[in-house]
Amino acid sequence: MQINKITLRNYRNYTDQEICPAPGVNIFLGKNAQGKTNIVEAVRFAALGRSHRTARDAELVKFGADEARAKIEFEKMGVSNTVELSFFTHGRLKARRNGGNIRRKDLVGALNAVLFAPEDLFLIKGAPDNRRRFLDAEMSQASPPYYAELLTYTRLMKQRNTLLKDIRDGLADRRSLSLWTPQMIACAAKLIRRRLAAVKELSGIAAALQQRISGGAAEMSISYVLHGYDGEPDTTHLEQWYEARMRENEELDIIRGTTRIGPHRDDLSFTAGGTDLRAYGSQGQQRTAALSLKLSELEFLRQAAGEYPVLLLDDVMSELDLDRRRNLVGFIERENIQTLITATDGSYFPDHIGKYWHVENGHVTAE
Ligand code: ATP
Ligand code: MG
Repeated sequence: MQINKITLRNYRNYTDQEICPAPGVNIFLGKNAQGKTNIVEAVRFAALGRSHRTARDAELVKFGADEARAKIEFEKMGVSNTVELSFFTHGRLKARRNGGNIRRKDLVGALNAVLFAPEDLFLIKGAPDNRRRFLDAEMSQASPPYYAELLTYTRLMKQRNTLLKDIRDGLADRRSLSLWTPQMIACAAKLIRRRLAAVKELSGIAAALQQRISGGAAEMSISYVLHGYDGEPDTTHLEQWYEARMRENEELDIIRGTTRIGPHRDDLSFTAGGTDLRAYGSQGQQRTAALSLKLSELEFLRQAAGEYPVLLLDDVMSELDLDRRRNLVGFIERENIQTLITATDGSYFPDHIGKYWHVENGHVTAE
């Protein structure tokens, strides 16, 4: 995957900007609040159909304007592609791919990009929803059918939650729950089987990378934690297991007005040499694991898509120590991954590394 051109019009603090990134490493240097993350955000939006910073698209429109545009021209397996996005202060996102209108959800899987930001260093010990978001973003980019299934599940769950509240408030009959349950179980089981397979693959890749990064420390392993299930999930009876749990939880689900079991509650767990990294890992071990995980995401997507995604490293260099920084830069250079790096200070990078850009007050210039 290679981005050839990024065009921003009235997008955040940009009025009219074109950037043609080099094939390898691109380093965007600038002081705080100059527009570095805004560039990364536009690419990430094109890849996943939403901003990683806000759920309100209108925030992307430059103050005082009505409409913002971001256009990304890229090569996917050597074939030219364009994604064009129009954001409005009043009105819904318009997305086009290669000139044709598409829905927001159809953006996912077109341009593949992986973002690594400082908050990802807390993936191991942070809240479970971060780990779920990580897994879902990775799998959705690798497999649009997975993403479609995930959207269906989320819709079914929201509908079921509304129904649960209505039953609680005496507005609906409890028997109508049985209309949703079989569909939800079928959908959840599909998601979980796919996630289990992906986590197994990811775990193998992460273990190999972590060995390389940490020079032979205890081997890391990732497993999928099925909420409410003890031990290694048995996929042959997943549907029956879910049905029993849903029935068991029904009473409390109605009282709470929410579905308390399902893939939206599942988690990932990380161990090194059999020890739980979240509970017992040192900060250094957790950071190495987080870095290995992010690099495994690149490799996972390469295996699924046939080439590496574009890598976005927003402000992450200053958070890594010298060794981890070297490992990361070494990996990017060795694998020849197109990378957009933002930083306030150029001293984190070896001289030869790539193309430098200067970012100042919504203007980007090549150095
Ligand atoms: P840091 O180094 O602190 O992360 P940065 O260079 O990454 O800074 P960005 O987050 O890319 O900074 O850009 C922030 C700038 O963009 C701020 O000056 C902010 O006021 C401006 N900005 C954000 N949204 C808009 C908008 N809708 N219209 C105009 N300017 C905006
Ligand atoms: Mg920033």
